Amino acid sequence: MSEDLKCLSCDAATCSLLEKAKKEKIETVWDRAEAMQPQCGFGEMGLCCTNCGMGPCRIVKVSEDGPKKGICGADEDTIAARNLARAVAAGSAAHSDHGRDIAHALYYAAKNPESGYKVKDSQKLISLAREWGIETENLDEKEIAAKVAELALQEFGKPFGHLRFTERAPKDRLDIWNKMNVTPRAIDRDIVEVLHSTHIGCDADYRNIMMKATRAALCDGWGGSMIGTELSDILFGIPQPHEIEANLGVLKEDEVNIVIHGHEPTLSEAILVAVNDPELIELAQKQGAKGINLVGMCCTGNEIAMRHNVPMAGNFFQQELAIVTGAVDAMVVDVQCIMPALSQVAKCYHTKLITTSPKAIIPGAIHMQFDEARAVESAKRIVQEAVLNFKNRTGNIFIPEIKSKGFVGFSNESIISALDGVTNSFAHPQGTVKPLVDAIKSGVLRGAVAIVGCNNHKVPQDKGHVELAKELIKNDVLVVTTGCGAYACIKEGLMTKEAANLCGKGLSTVCELVKIPPVLHMGSCVDISRILLLLSEVAKYMNVDIKDLPVAGAAPEWMSEKALAIGTYVVASGVYTMLGVAPQITGSENLTRFLTEDVENIYGGKFHIESDPKKAAQKILEHIEAKRKALGI
Ligand code: SF4
Ligand code: SF4
Repeated sequence: MSEDLKCLSCDAATCSLLEKAKKEKIETVWDRAEAMQPQCGFGEMGLCCTNCGMGPCRIVKVSEDGPKKGICGADEDTIAARNLARAVAAGSAAHSDHGRDIAHALYYAAKNPESGYKVKDSQKLISLAREWGIETENLDEKEIAAKVAELALQEFGKPFGHLRFTERAPKDRLDIWNKMNVTPRAIDRDIVEVLHSTHIGCDADYRNIMMKATRAALCDGWGGSMIGTELSDILFGIPQPHEIEANLGVLKEDEVNIVIHGHEPTLSEAILVAVNDPELIELAQKQGAKGINLVGMCCTGNEIAMRHNVPMAGNFFQQELAIVTGAVDAMVVDVQCIMPALSQVAKCYHTKLITTSPKAIIPGAIHMQFDEARAVESAKRIVQEAVLNFKNRTGNIFIPEIKSKGFVGFSNESIISALDGVTNSFAHPQGTVKPLVDAIKSGVLRGAVAIVGCNNHKVPQDKGHVELAKELIKNDVLVVTTGCGAYACIKEGLMTKEAANLCGKGLSTVCELVKIPPVLHMGSCVDISRILLLLSEVAKYMNVDIKDLPVAGAAPEWMSEKALAIGTYVVASGVYTMLGVAPQITGSENLTRFLTEDVENIYGGKFHIESDPKKAAQKILEHIEAKRKALGI
């Protein structure tokens, strides 16, 4: 592997396929990033505004000359805050629309047998119904499911009150949100209010703009994402720990390879049923394949890996390279994080890029609309298209023999049940976070950090995730991870029992006793709501607020607006949050100071920007020790 490629990625499979891409003159994300240099300084600092037809306007910071205000008079603080708020609203909208689709699928499970959706975890359904005040005694499962789905859908546009799931937060947290007027009310409403306020001639106060962005972000974490996760568990099952394979080496030369890429498990679960259909397997064999190999990419890959034995093929920056192997017969996509460039790459091979959602059409791709009302039937048609494409392979195939194994499936329920394994059942109640709290209090575990988010060309692929995780576990800090960060960690072998060898003595002992790896895969990006709930449980058990816990969040390679929404709701939930890439706000000193300093006095959490993973780890460790000291532990 050339040294140049190592600067782009620290993943060996990625580097070997980049060499193939280069030879075959396939343009990748890194080529386009290079062509984009130098990137526009106005945009980079958040000082370009296109919010009205009088613009575009830009604020000049690098010299005394040049405009200091937009044509309407908006200054650097207003422009940077409006841009950030709109990005947060977009991220919140993406996660929340995902949650809405899952709620619709639950409704189909109750009302439409042709959809193929069924309730898999009736216990979780009943428990959520009771939490939401639904009288379950005289209702059958379908009636309960319909009522839960209806209430979930009302969360998007109810005219009064606040989101139901906010009641799950510790009381002190709710008090802070109420005082700041950021308690989320209805998901669509709070997102719309950001768009309204950031229209020309509306809100010009950067702090007030950020208050609205925060409320929209909380609608994501404690609303849309939490609805997505909870209802997905009800429909498709609560994840349980199991071992799976990861990286592009999971593609198989002698089978029909289908990569499922995007986000929503409504599609991937139906595709999973379809690839196991005996008629389609027979059809694949008739085409000369040994079978059908379904693999996942990005967050849909996380969803399906957490619940089933579907390998995790790759993260955000590996999507083009999966096609470059020449072995992908179809890449089936739904929504979010799907590079439009895929259709060009697919054209250079035999791969069929199949879009399935009316929300994400890509020119050059084949569109086969996924009909949730007839989910399995729809999925079978898509799988058939992939199977029939096997015979069109060109022979120019290279699958790197690189894959690793790791344990995934750490839902809160499975973490608590693992903790029960070290509870003295005579002396203490089962089903609580007590053993985790005991380990933190005793200092065996110094704290816990969530490493989440994407890949970004501004950081060598996976390096930010992996180096940060290694530094933290070495210092007895438990790491939980989701999204594309989870791929980086599993590819590096950090989700194995052997990874305990990389830990400090305390964490390795905990791993051995509880039988967990030091890095826990907690799912997709919407599953960060699981982390919020775990934090709430621990805080309530310790009788403190989330902001008092020795924990932190990190997004070392973030890139999407969803990641900005996540960061915002995590900070507003009281968590210190490290960003490995600077957000586009640095042109406004006031806004930057507000987000990296002042918000701590409001929410107890704040952002810190640090691109060097070792320095980031150091700052996080200092933060954790300061929180421990304040707690007197
Ligand atoms: S809203 Fe103001 S700053 Fe933005 S483009 Fe219009 S005039 Fe320019
Ligand atoms: S972590 Fe980022 S790149 Fe990966 S799927 Fe989530 S939002 Fe997309």
